[in-house]
Amino acid sequence: MIQIIGAGPAGSLLGILLARRGVEVHLYERRSDPHGVAAEAGRSINLALAARGMRALESAGVLPRIEPLCVRMRGRQLHETGRQDQFIAYGQREHEVIWSVSRSALTAELAAAAAELPSLRLHYGQMCTGYDGDALRMRDVAERRDYQLPAERVIGADGAGSVLRHCLAQHDGFEVTEARLPHDYKELQVPLQAGHAALSMEALHIWPRGGYMLIALPNADGTFTATLFLAREADAGSGQPGFDALQNVQQVERFFRNEFPDFLALVPDLPQQFLGNPQGMLGTVYCPRWNDAERLLLIGDAAHAIVPFHGQGMNCAFEDCRLLDAMLQEDPGHAFGRFANERREDCLAIAQMALENYGEMRDTVRDPRFQQQKALSLALERLYPDRFIPRYSMVMFHDEIPYSVALRRGRIQQQILDELGAAGATPESAEPLVRSRLERLSVPAG
Ligand SMILES: Cc1cc2nc3c(=O)[nH]c(=O)nc-3n(C[C@H](O)[C@H](O)[C@H](O)COP(=O)(O)OP(=O)(O)OC[C@H]3O[C@@H](n4cnc5c(N)ncnc54)[C@H](O)[C@@H]3O)c2cc1C
Repeated sequence: MIQIIGAGPAGSLLGILLARRGVEVHLYERRSDPHGVAAEAGRSINLALAARGMRALESAGVLPRIEPLCVRMRGRQLHETGRQDQFIAYGQREHEVIWSVSRSALTAELAAAAAELPSLRLHYGQMCTGYDGDALRMRDVAERRDYQLPAERVIGADGAGSVLRHCLAQHDGFEVTEARLPHDYKELQVPLQAGHAALSMEALHIWPRGGYMLIALPNADGTFTATLFLAREADAGSGQPGFDALQNVQQVERFFRNEFPDFLALVPDLPQQFLGNPQGMLGTVYCPRWNDAERLLLIGDAAHAIVPFHGQGMNCAFEDCRLLDAMLQEDPGHAFGRFANERREDCLAIAQMALENYGEMRDTVRDPRFQQQKALSLALERLYPDRFIPRYSMVMFHDEIPYSVALRRGRIQQQILDELGAAGATPESAEPLVRSRLERLSVPAG
């Protein structure tokens, strides 16, 4: 029997993977129902789903139920001040796209799929409050009743603020680093304009402004969910704005009129939304241990929450589920320890790449040199498809390439791009450089 704490994306998907193989699964969720789960999370109303997430959903047999909820995004649409909007494709093959999916619809669909499996039991309104190696301390939220469960094999999928992570750290006396970013986020809804989508539905929209940015992802109904990423505190010295200086209607209106006038025009009640919506925080969790022998294992955000700038937190959590399920099938008695050892390097790599991507999205994407290098890297991929794959593509489209390999090869590729750029060389002349520095990858054809 396996007890999973948290029926978010990771807990639900893992429950499905296990229960489909006949494993007895008990899934405990503090919210009262799947819609409550989505609403309470209060974070990111839509998420970008990419190859790693899709593959895990496929291996759990639920992809056909999720696909109809997804909106295809082929690239970034840049909205720069004083410039024509510009579309930059993410990849160069038909399937090299990412998908915008409503967090609540996805979670509800996974919960529905889980509820259909005879060996899985979902317990809503049950919050875990502690773990001591032998027992789980639980609370029935509606009845305000505390009780204990014997801890069998426990999976902590209880998100970035994980109670189980705190218990494990306390029990074993290690320190967890929760590295909070100095930037927070706030979401805004863009309604339909005269019955139509306000922006192109095929893109992830970015308004890069150097120190901060606004993005918007399409929803299936033609509305968009936008997110402002901005420093918590304004910096008077550099003139950089911050959330603390946006406290009333006039300040909010002035900021958007100056920085995002085209966006302001799309959202009639923008100041009201802005002042009414919560301000979310962002950060990376570095947890040195994820398991208590074979009794407890942390997965997903509970083990390794990351900043959202590569759109990989949930994808990585889903990949956790697929890999852990395979390890449990191979050698159930050692799977927790093996997962905790083998997965760490990849999770550190995506945490690093997610942090680096913030600079790219809010700033370097505007630089003509970035766009030249992007074009050059796509040309190199066309010429040497089994050696040179742009780092973004390795992370988003190549689930067969581990994150740590993408990070390592990405660094080598960046050096190659810099050297070629400095020498004014053509992609064709890069062959010796590419062959000598990048070993061959085994990539699927097409
Ligand atoms: C602004 C933003 C944008 C993002 N965009 C993307 C994106 O585009 N693509 C992407 O892949 N990822 C994205 N992410 C990351 C993604 O949301 C997370 O990585 C993902 O939700 C992690 O899933 P999880 O199941 O591990 O944790 P969670 O989603 O946090 O789920 C945890 C679940 O556990 C429950 N729970 C918590 N504590 C307890 C307890 N004590 N007892 C019982 N139940 C409990 C919660 O109610 C919840 O249902 C984004 C995140 C943010 C903040």
